[in-house]
Amino acid sequence: MIQTGIFGASGRMGTLLVQEVQNDSDMELSSVYARDGVQDLRARNLPVADSIEEFLQSCACVIDFSSKEGSMELLRTAQNLGLHKPMVIGTTGLSQGEFENLKTLSQHCPILYASNMSMGVAILAKISAIVAQTLKDSDIEIVEYHHRHKKDAPSGTALTLAQSCAKARGLDLQNVRISGRDGIIGARSKDEIGVMSVRGGDVVGKHNVGFYLDGEYIELTHNATSRLTFVKGAINALKWLVSKPNGLYSIQDSLGL
Ligand code: NAD
Repeated sequence: MIQTGIFGASGRMGTLLVQEVQNDSDMELSSVYARDGVQDLRARNLPVADSIEEFLQSCACVIDFSSKEGSMELLRTAQNLGLHKPMVIGTTGLSQGEFENLKTLSQHCPILYASNMSMGVAILAKISAIVAQTLKDSDIEIVEYHHRHKKDAPSGTALTLAQSCAKARGLDLQNVRISGRDGIIGARSKDEIGVMSVRGGDVVGKHNVGFYLDGEYIELTHNATSRLTFVKGAINALKWLVSKPNGLYSIQDSLGL
Protein backbone atom coordinates (compact mmCIF):
# COMPACT_ATOMS: atom_id res chain seq x y z
CA MET A 1 0.00 0.00 0.00
CA ILE A 2 1.35 3.40 -0.95
CA GLN A 3 0.55 5.75 1.94
CA THR A 4 -0.24 8.94 0.08
CA GLY A 5 -0.75 12.53 1.19
CA ILE A 6 -2.71 14.91 -1.04
CA PHE A 7 -1.58 18.55 -0.78
CA GLY A 8 -4.20 20.99 -2.10
CA ALA A 9 -6.92 18.43 -1.32
CA SER A 10 -9.89 20.81 -1.51
CA GLY A 11 -9.19 22.12 -5.02
CA ARG A 12 -10.53 21.04 -8.40
CA MET A 13 -7.66 18.59 -8.84
CA GLY A 14 -7.32 17.70 -5.15
CA THR A 15 -10.96 16.65 -4.82
CA LEU A 16 -10.63 14.19 -7.71
CA LEU A 17 -7.25 12.95 -6.44
CA VAL A 18 -8.73 12.15 -3.03
CA GLN A 19 -11.51 10.12 -4.68
CA GLU A 20 -9.17 8.22 -6.99
CA VAL A 21 -6.66 7.41 -4.24
CA GLN A 22 -9.49 6.16 -2.01
CA ASN A 23 -10.71 3.90 -4.84
CA ASP A 24 -7.26 2.52 -5.67
CA SER A 25 -6.50 -0.80 -4.00
CA ASP A 26 -2.71 -0.13 -4.13
CA MET A 27 -3.02 3.18 -2.28
CA GLU A 28 -4.03 4.47 1.10
CA LEU A 29 -5.04 8.08 1.75
CA SER A 30 -2.98 8.88 4.84
CA SER A 31 -3.14 12.67 5.04
CA VAL A 32 -4.65 15.67 3.31
CA TYR A 33 -3.85 19.37 3.59
CA ALA A 34 -5.29 22.52 2.05
CA ARG A 35 -5.39 26.23 2.73
CA ASP A 36 -9.12 26.55 1.98
CA GLY A 37 -12.18 24.33 2.36
CA VAL A 38 -10.76 22.53 5.40
CA GLN A 39 -14.17 22.29 7.13
CA ASP A 40 -15.58 20.42 4.19
CA LEU A 41 -12.61 18.03 4.18
CA ARG A 42 -13.23 17.32 7.88
CA ALA A 43 -16.96 16.83 7.27
CA ARG A 44 -16.04 14.10 4.78
CA ASN A 45 -13.99 12.35 7.52
CA LEU A 46 -10.74 12.74 5.59
CA PRO A 47 -7.43 12.56 7.49
CA VAL A 48 -6.90 16.35 7.62
CA ALA A 49 -3.53 17.50 8.97
CA ASP A 50 -3.43 20.72 11.02
CA SER A 51 -0.03 21.76 9.71
CA ILE A 52 2.28 20.96 6.81
CA GLU A 53 4.63 19.31 9.32
CA GLU A 54 1.88 16.95 10.48
CA PHE A 55 0.83 16.36 6.87
CA LEU A 56 4.34 15.26 5.87
CA GLN A 57 4.87 13.16 8.98
CA SER A 58 1.62 11.24 8.33
CA CYS A 59 2.34 10.05 4.79
CA ALA A 60 5.03 8.13 2.90
CA CYS A 61 4.74 10.14 -0.32
CA VAL A 62 2.96 13.21 -1.66
CA ILE A 63 0.90 14.37 -4.62
CA ASP A 64 0.77 18.19 -4.77
CA PHE A 65 -1.61 20.23 -6.91
CA SER A 66 -1.86 23.49 -4.97
CA SER A 67 -0.38 26.89 -5.81
CA LYS A 68 3.17 28.10 -6.33
CA GLU A 69 3.20 29.49 -2.75
CA GLY A 70 1.82 26.19 -1.43
CA SER A 71 4.34 24.04 -3.29
CA MET A 72 7.23 26.20 -2.09
CA GLU A 73 6.01 26.00 1.50
CA LEU A 74 5.68 22.24 1.19
CA LEU A 75 9.25 21.90 -0.14
CA ARG A 76 10.67 24.26 2.48
CA THR A 77 8.98 22.34 5.30
CA ALA A 78 10.18 18.97 3.97
CA GLN A 79 13.71 20.37 3.78
CA ASN A 80 13.59 21.90 7.29
CA LEU A 81 12.28 18.67 8.81
CA GLY A 82 14.73 16.52 6.82
CA LEU A 83 11.74 14.50 5.55
CA HIS A 84 12.70 13.25 2.13
CA LYS A 85 9.62 11.63 0.64
CA PRO A 86 8.79 10.92 -3.01
CA MET A 87 6.68 13.77 -4.41
CA VAL A 88 4.67 14.20 -7.59
CA ILE A 89 4.18 17.92 -8.17
CA GLY A 90 1.73 19.23 -10.76
CA THR A 91 1.42 22.86 -9.63
CA THR A 92 2.03 25.29 -12.48
CA GLY A 93 3.23 28.89 -12.65
CA LEU A 94 6.56 28.28 -10.84
CA SER A 95 9.23 30.89 -11.52
CA GLN A 96 12.73 29.87 -12.57
CA GLY A 97 13.93 30.46 -8.99
CA GLU A 98 11.11 28.34 -7.55
CA PHE A 99 11.92 25.58 -10.00
CA GLU A 100 15.56 25.72 -8.83
CA ASN A 101 14.33 25.13 -5.22
CA LEU A 102 12.51 22.06 -6.44
CA LYS A 103 15.65 20.87 -8.23
CA THR A 104 17.73 21.36 -5.06
CA LEU A 105 15.36 19.31 -2.91
CA SER A 106 15.34 16.54 -5.54
CA GLN A 107 18.96 15.81 -4.53
CA HIS A 108 17.47 14.39 -1.31
CA CYS A 109 14.29 12.71 -2.58
CA PRO A 110 12.70 11.57 -5.83
CA ILE A 111 10.51 14.32 -7.32
CA LEU A 112 8.47 14.10 -10.50
CA TYR A 113 7.41 17.50 -11.79
CA ALA A 114 5.09 17.90 -14.77
CA SER A 115 3.09 20.93 -15.85
CA ASN A 116 0.79 18.42 -17.52
CA MET A 117 0.33 14.84 -16.32
CA SER A 118 -1.43 13.53 -19.44
CA MET A 119 0.18 10.97 -21.71
CA GLY A 120 -1.19 12.81 -24.75
CA VAL A 121 0.67 16.04 -23.94
CA ALA A 122 3.90 14.12 -23.25
CA ILE A 123 3.61 12.63 -26.75
CA LEU A 124 2.64 16.01 -28.25
CA ALA A 125 5.83 17.56 -26.79
CA LYS A 126 7.91 14.82 -28.38
CA ILE A 127 6.24 15.12 -31.79
CA SER A 128 6.41 18.94 -31.68
CA ALA A 129 10.18 18.77 -31.16
CA ILE A 130 10.55 16.51 -34.20
CA VAL A 131 8.42 18.81 -36.40
CA ALA A 132 10.23 21.95 -35.11
CA GLN A 133 13.56 20.43 -36.05
CA THR A 134 12.41 19.01 -39.39
CA LEU A 135 10.47 22.07 -40.62
CA LYS A 136 13.24 24.50 -39.74
CA ASP A 137 11.66 27.42 -41.62
CA SER A 138 8.19 27.11 -40.14
CA ASP A 139 6.80 29.82 -37.86
CA ILE A 140 5.84 28.24 -34.53
CA GLU A 141 2.73 29.55 -32.78
CA ILE A 142 1.21 27.89 -29.72
CA VAL A 143 -2.29 28.74 -28.50
CA GLU A 144 -3.65 27.45 -25.21
CA TYR A 145 -7.25 27.54 -23.97
CA HIS A 146 -8.30 27.15 -20.32
CA HIS A 147 -11.27 27.70 -18.01
CA ARG A 148 -11.98 31.15 -16.58
CA HIS A 149 -10.57 30.27 -13.11
CA LYS A 150 -7.01 29.49 -14.20
CA LYS A 151 -4.61 31.80 -12.38
CA ASP A 152 -1.40 31.62 -14.42
CA ALA A 153 -0.75 32.43 -18.07
CA PRO A 154 0.59 31.16 -20.37
CA SER A 155 -0.14 27.65 -19.11
CA GLY A 156 2.76 25.57 -17.85
CA THR A 157 1.94 23.08 -20.59
CA ALA A 158 2.19 25.72 -23.34
CA LEU A 159 5.59 26.75 -21.94
CA THR A 160 6.72 23.11 -21.85
CA LEU A 161 5.66 22.66 -25.49
CA ALA A 162 7.40 25.90 -26.46
CA GLN A 163 10.51 24.76 -24.59
CA SER A 164 10.52 21.46 -26.54
CA CYS A 165 10.33 23.35 -29.83
CA ALA A 166 12.98 25.92 -28.81
CA LYS A 167 15.37 23.20 -27.63
CA ALA A 168 14.91 21.27 -30.87
CA ARG A 169 16.05 24.42 -32.74
CA GLY A 170 18.90 25.22 -30.34
CA LEU A 171 17.15 28.40 -29.14
CA ASP A 172 16.78 29.89 -25.66
CA LEU A 173 13.02 30.21 -25.12
CA GLN A 174 13.46 33.29 -22.92
CA ASN A 175 14.92 35.16 -25.90
CA VAL A 176 12.34 34.10 -28.50
CA ARG A 177 8.99 33.80 -26.71
CA ILE A 178 6.27 36.34 -27.58
CA SER A 179 3.14 36.21 -25.43
CA GLY A 180 1.03 39.02 -26.83
CA ARG A 181 0.85 41.25 -29.92
CA ASP A 182 -0.82 44.62 -30.10
CA GLY A 183 -0.40 47.70 -32.31
CA ILE A 184 2.18 48.27 -35.04
CA ILE A 185 4.41 45.38 -34.19
CA GLY A 186 6.15 44.98 -37.56
CA ALA A 187 6.88 41.73 -39.33
CA ARG A 188 7.31 38.51 -37.43
CA SER A 189 10.94 37.60 -36.76
CA LYS A 190 12.14 34.19 -37.91
CA ASP A 191 12.96 32.67 -34.55
CA GLU A 192 10.10 33.94 -32.45
CA ILE A 193 7.78 31.42 -30.85
CA GLY A 194 4.31 32.77 -30.11
CA VAL A 195 2.61 31.48 -26.96
CA MET A 196 -0.92 32.90 -26.62
CA SER A 197 -3.58 32.34 -23.97
CA VAL A 198 -7.36 32.21 -24.19
CA ARG A 199 -9.48 32.05 -20.99
CA GLY A 200 -13.15 31.20 -20.77
CA GLY A 201 -15.92 28.91 -19.60
CA ASP A 202 -15.03 25.48 -18.29
CA VAL A 203 -12.40 24.47 -20.87
CA VAL A 204 -10.29 21.81 -19.11
CA GLY A 205 -7.29 22.45 -21.35
CA LYS A 206 -6.61 22.70 -25.09
CA HIS A 207 -3.18 23.21 -26.68
CA ASN A 208 -2.57 23.86 -30.34
CA VAL A 209 0.99 23.84 -31.71
CA GLY A 210 1.11 25.29 -35.23
CA PHE A 211 3.98 25.13 -37.74
CA TYR A 212 3.27 27.68 -40.48
CA LEU A 213 5.04 27.68 -43.84
CA ASP A 214 4.31 29.42 -47.15
CA GLY A 215 1.59 27.37 -48.82
CA GLU A 216 0.89 24.90 -46.01
CA TYR A 217 0.78 24.46 -42.28
CA ILE A 218 0.56 21.72 -39.68
CA GLU A 219 -1.41 22.13 -36.47
CA LEU A 220 -1.12 19.57 -33.69
CA THR A 221 -3.87 19.79 -31.08
CA HIS A 222 -4.36 18.16 -27.71
CA ASN A 223 -7.69 18.43 -25.92
CA ALA A 224 -8.14 17.42 -22.32
CA THR A 225 -11.84 16.65 -21.91
CA SER A 226 -11.65 15.62 -18.25
CA ARG A 227 -9.43 16.49 -15.26
CA LEU A 228 -9.38 12.77 -14.49
CA THR A 229 -6.76 12.46 -17.22
CA PHE A 230 -4.33 14.51 -15.10
CA VAL A 231 -5.38 12.76 -11.89
CA LYS A 232 -4.81 9.27 -13.27
CA GLY A 233 -1.54 10.46 -14.82
CA ALA A 234 -0.34 11.78 -11.44
CA ILE A 235 -1.28 8.56 -9.63
CA ASN A 236 0.49 6.40 -12.22
CA ALA A 237 3.50 8.72 -11.99
CA LEU A 238 3.60 8.28 -8.20
CA LYS A 239 3.41 4.48 -8.48
CA TRP A 240 6.39 4.65 -10.84
CA LEU A 241 8.30 7.19 -8.70
CA VAL A 242 8.21 5.41 -5.32
CA SER A 243 10.89 2.90 -6.34
CA LYS A 244 13.21 5.47 -7.93
CA PRO A 245 16.42 6.94 -6.49
CA ASN A 246 16.62 10.63 -5.54
CA GLY A 247 16.49 13.03 -8.49
CA LEU A 248 14.19 15.15 -10.61
CA TYR A 249 12.03 13.24 -13.09
CA SER A 250 9.63 14.24 -15.86
CA ILE A 251 6.39 12.63 -16.99
CA GLN A 252 8.29 11.51 -20.11
CA ASP A 253 10.66 9.53 -17.83
CA SER A 254 7.74 7.75 -16.18
CA LEU A 255 6.20 6.89 -19.55
CA GLY A 256 9.50 5.73 -21.05
CA LEU A 257 9.29 8.33 -23.85
P1 NAD B 1 -7.68 25.13 -7.12
O1 NAD B 1 -7.52 26.58 -6.91
O2 NAD B 1 -9.03 24.57 -7.41
O3 NAD B 1 -7.11 24.34 -5.83
C1 NAD B 1 -5.92 24.68 -5.18
C2 NAD B 1 -5.80 23.86 -3.90
O4 NAD B 1 -4.54 24.15 -3.29
C3 NAD B 1 -6.87 24.21 -2.84
O5 NAD B 1 -7.13 23.06 -2.06
C4 NAD B 1 -6.15 25.26 -1.98
O6 NAD B 1 -6.66 25.33 -0.66
C5 NAD B 1 -4.75 24.69 -1.99
N1 NAD B 1 -3.73 25.73 -1.75
C6 NAD B 1 -3.51 26.85 -2.46
N2 NAD B 1 -2.49 27.56 -1.90
C7 NAD B 1 -2.09 26.86 -0.83
C8 NAD B 1 -1.08 27.07 0.17
N3 NAD B 1 -0.29 28.17 0.16
N4 NAD B 1 -0.92 26.12 1.12
C9 NAD B 1 -1.72 25.02 1.15
N5 NAD B 1 -2.69 24.77 0.24
C10 NAD B 1 -2.86 25.68 -0.74
O7 NAD B 1 -6.65 24.74 -8.28
P2 NAD B 1 -6.68 23.47 -9.26
O8 NAD B 1 -7.45 23.79 -10.49
O9 NAD B 1 -6.97 22.23 -8.48
O10 NAD B 1 -5.13 23.46 -9.72
C11 NAD B 1 -4.08 23.39 -8.79
C12 NAD B 1 -2.75 23.55 -9.50
O11 NAD B 1 -2.56 22.44 -10.38
C13 NAD B 1 -2.65 24.80 -10.40
O12 NAD B 1 -1.34 25.28 -10.36
C14 NAD B 1 -3.00 24.27 -11.78
O13 NAD B 1 -2.49 25.06 -12.81
C15 NAD B 1 -2.31 22.92 -11.70
N6 NAD B 1 -2.78 21.90 -12.65
C16 NAD B 1 -1.84 21.08 -13.14
C17 NAD B 1 -2.20 20.03 -13.98
C18 NAD B 1 -1.13 19.07 -14.45
O14 NAD B 1 -1.45 18.12 -15.20
N7 NAD B 1 0.12 19.25 -14.01
C19 NAD B 1 -3.55 19.85 -14.32
C20 NAD B 1 -4.50 20.71 -13.78
C21 NAD B 1 -4.10 21.74 -12.93
